[in-house]
Amino acid sequence: MTIRRKGQAAVDLPAKTFRTMGHRLVDDVATLLEGLPERKVAPGKRPSEVKALLGGAAIPENGADPVRLLAEATALLADNSTFNGHPRFFGYITASPTPIGILSEMLAAAINPNCGGYVLSPLATEIELQTIRWMAELTGFARDCGGLFVSGGNMANMVGFLVAKAKAEGDPAKLRCYASAETHTWIDKAPDMFGLTDQSVVRLPVDPAGRISADAIRTAIESDRNAGMIPFLVIATAGTTNTGAIDPIGEIADLCESEKLWLHVDGAYGAPAASIANAPEDLKHLGRADSLAIDPHKWLYAPLEAGCALVKNAEDLRTTFSHHPPYYHFDDIQGEEGTNMYEYGPQNSRGFRALKVWLAMKQVGRAGAVKMIEEDIALTKKMYEAILLEPQLEAFTCELSIVTFRFVPEDLSRESASDTEYLNKLNEELQNALQAGGEIFLSNGTLDGRFLLRACIVNFRTTDEDVLVVPEVVVRVGERVDRELRKTR
Ligand SMILES: *Cc1c(COP(=O)(O)O)cnc(C)c1O
Repeated sequence: MTIRRKGQAAVDLPAKTFRTMGHRLVDDVATLLEGLPERKVAPGKRPSEVKALLGGAAIPENGADPVRLLAEATALLADNSTFNGHPRFFGYITASPTPIGILSEMLAAAINPNCGGYVLSPLATEIELQTIRWMAELTGFARDCGGLFVSGGNMANMVGFLVAKAKAEGDPAKLRCYASAETHTWIDKAPDMFGLTDQSVVRLPVDPAGRISADAIRTAIESDRNAGMIPFLVIATAGTTNTGAIDPIGEIADLCESEKLWLHVDGAYGAPAASIANAPEDLKHLGRADSLAIDPHKWLYAPLEAGCALVKNAEDLRTTFSHHPPYYHFDDIQGEEGTNMYEYGPQNSRGFRALKVWLAMKQVGRAGAVKMIEEDIALTKKMYEAILLEPQLEAFTCELSIVTFRFVPEDLSRESASDTEYLNKLNEELQNALQAGGEIFLSNGTLDGRFLLRACIVNFRTTDEDVLVVPEVVVRVGERVDRELRKTR
């Protein structure tokens, strides 16, 4: 009795059907990308409405026509998604995906290399290693460093954190690392994940520009050492998530050298800006870090997910992560050694995240990548200047490609503490109303207890027109939200 003949498995598709579906999908995606500017940035639907689109059904007992299913899923997603690829998406630090990256995802899935072991992914591993060297080159990090692709900035930072911890000696309960109040929230999770206490992270205050002070770190280290603690790591941020502030990385690197401490730089957002002609001075010191986190799914426009951890000495990654279970025989490939990425990071089976980054870098070259970052920064300045000209908007910061500001109705005071509470409420409601309205998408920041609107441009689709429309939209929606809020006040 024949159990299965070629092409008979339930999930398989005849080549002809696969072609039909693929061609149609490419056409539908091309239409979607072309038409993004005419679509709403976000669907503006309540979770219950979105959930209802799927129906309440359990797993279907029997299958259905794949041609129809893929077409339906495409239409459903096109009509009910928040598009970070929309030219007026300015929320969080979430980038437009590169078209070549979109197609790379399909190619990566088709080859489906397991980038954990070299024999399972020979060319894919070499592409990943080459891309890692390019990430180092772009950011001024040592080209002969180690590194790997991970899911995003959080994981890239955690890799750096764990390597630093693995190199530290002494009672884990006494280990101390230093970060700023503005360090991204990955630092809240890292000690839990890696067996340290909450006290192990010393969060130091920032100056009005959002920067940590090297002197404050030095003082904290001294007092911790006097109390018998073991400092092991300093974390600097190259572009904070809140306002884009860049810590004094040069001074902090000096400090870490003299104190013999591991320096990890969180460059998830800002590191690629080290490549531009007029890069902020402190970004020129990224190469002095022992480890660096970069997020190609931010300013290098890779489709989610793509984070990248760089570690100056590749052997440090291997001593942190390498174990040799008896069921792996990966070491000898025709008399040579290949790199087994599972030895350099936390994952075992690994997808081919590097391909979308590698192909996009080859498409645009260093010059193209630099130009897009410079353009984003110039557009951000343009938005900031337009905000300054609008009397009902109060601008706060403009760093890298992040602007913060808020809506202040004519009759309210920017300075008065008694208005702050109302202004916070108003701007929070305004952010919600803007997201629901779908004309532009902003997120929020905070500064000295003030709730601010925040625009971040990591978006190669954004044009002059898209940034210049922001003040008008915010004021128009702001006035409406203000009227409604006052009725309930
Ligand atoms: C975005 C960001 C992270 C987290 O990166 P994910 O890719 O979201 O995991 C960490 N640090 C900074 C500075 C960031 O901007």
